[in-house]
Amino acid sequence: MQYLRPQRSLDSPRPRKRTIHLSKSVAKSPGAAPTSIPCFQPAIGEEEIAAATAVLRSGWLTTGPKAREFEQKFAAYMGGGVEAVAVNSATAGLHLAAEACGIGPGDEVIVPTLTFTATASVIRYLGAEVVLADVDETTRCIDLEDAERRFTPRCKAIIPVHFGGLPCDMTKVLAFARRHNLKVIEDAAHALPARCDDRLIGSWESHACVFSFYASKPITTGEGGMIVTHDPKIAARARVMRTHGLDRDAFDRFRKVGASWAYDVVAPGFKYNLTDVAAAIGVVQLSRAETLQAARQRAAERYLEKLAGLPIQCPASAPPGGLNAWHMFPICLHESARANRDDLIAALAAKGIGASVHYRPLHEMSYWRERYHCEPGDFAVASRYFAGAVTLPLFAGMTDAQVDRVVAAVREVLG
Ligand SMILES: *Cc1c(COP(=O)(O)O)cnc(C)c1O
Repeated sequence: MQYLRPQRSLDSPRPRKRTIHLSKSVAKSPGAAPTSIPCFQPAIGEEEIAAATAVLRSGWLTTGPKAREFEQKFAAYMGGGVEAVAVNSATAGLHLAAEACGIGPGDEVIVPTLTFTATASVIRYLGAEVVLADVDETTRCIDLEDAERRFTPRCKAIIPVHFGGLPCDMTKVLAFARRHNLKVIEDAAHALPARCDDRLIGSWESHACVFSFYASKPITTGEGGMIVTHDPKIAARARVMRTHGLDRDAFDRFRKVGASWAYDVVAPGFKYNLTDVAAAIGVVQLSRAETLQAARQRAAERYLEKLAGLPIQCPASAPPGGLNAWHMFPICLHESARANRDDLIAALAAKGIGASVHYRPLHEMSYWRERYHCEPGDFAVASRYFAGAVTLPLFAGMTDAQVDRVVAAVREVLG
């Protein structure tokens, strides 16, 4: 998907040079040929490697004390007495959250069309239907006025997406949900840390808020996710369904509370638990989350300054009291620009710069288009954005020189 530095698959030829990306960028000798700039790059340092290695040496690899520690530290970081449930992806987390909210056949759930397909797929897993909504021209987050127009009495939940790390206006989302008696499940895959009205995303009164630790995301465990909730019933149901519907999870069995064989099955659950190897990496990454955000923000601000005057729309900064996680830097070329989206991406690729597109809207993807009989004009803002959308490289280890190289390449095409 959108992580553009694919690891070598098992049957592909061995690359000539192996690069290990550590948190500190490797100094290049002056005059060396410029290396490629990936769209995203994980910030894995020696501390993460040591933490994962310690788990590998410990003899306990799956969900256990590290997963519990990660959950406790994540909940404490969010504040407000939330519980955190670690899972093996945000997709799993969204699925469990929607299941715990009671979403099922006959229900509908409102989802912005400008998102990754997993936001909507989990609703179909549960036999419920998706009601797509358009996004806002400036924030690229869900347009609640459009959601209002598309609302039906069958709508039971809404999944706002904090697009690119820029938080939705949570006061407005929660008011909309209260007015229509909807559950709120935040897709916070891009939003760690992000703030709205001086409150961290993850601490608001939604029913659940789900983070992703996929390799390209603001913090990573390779694959992983976290559900955060104020509702102990949602947390308890997610824990049961995370581990096959057993009435006690792997951690209790690890602790040998009673005999490890003595469990009951209370539902046909899933297999969504996070390994301790991944959780150990997560504990270190969480402790660096704000430092990593600050590094991305620095690069983003340099982009904003140096791209000024070009025929593009840059991503919005957070309003006062807010914090953009700056997960990515999605620009949109004006229709009047000299080149189009594909030309720009090709020109950047020719210079070793990895650009991408986030996202082709769901209503333009075969499955969603056919299921809901969508026309491109149905979600005009998202479609217009997609026509000019290019995501420029942004990651914590990005140097000023790398930002400047990307800017120069963009200026060469559009300036
Ligand atoms: C990455 C992503 C997901 C899925 O996260 P995984 O951890 O890969 O399952 C869901 N929603 C959005 C918006 C994402 O970017």
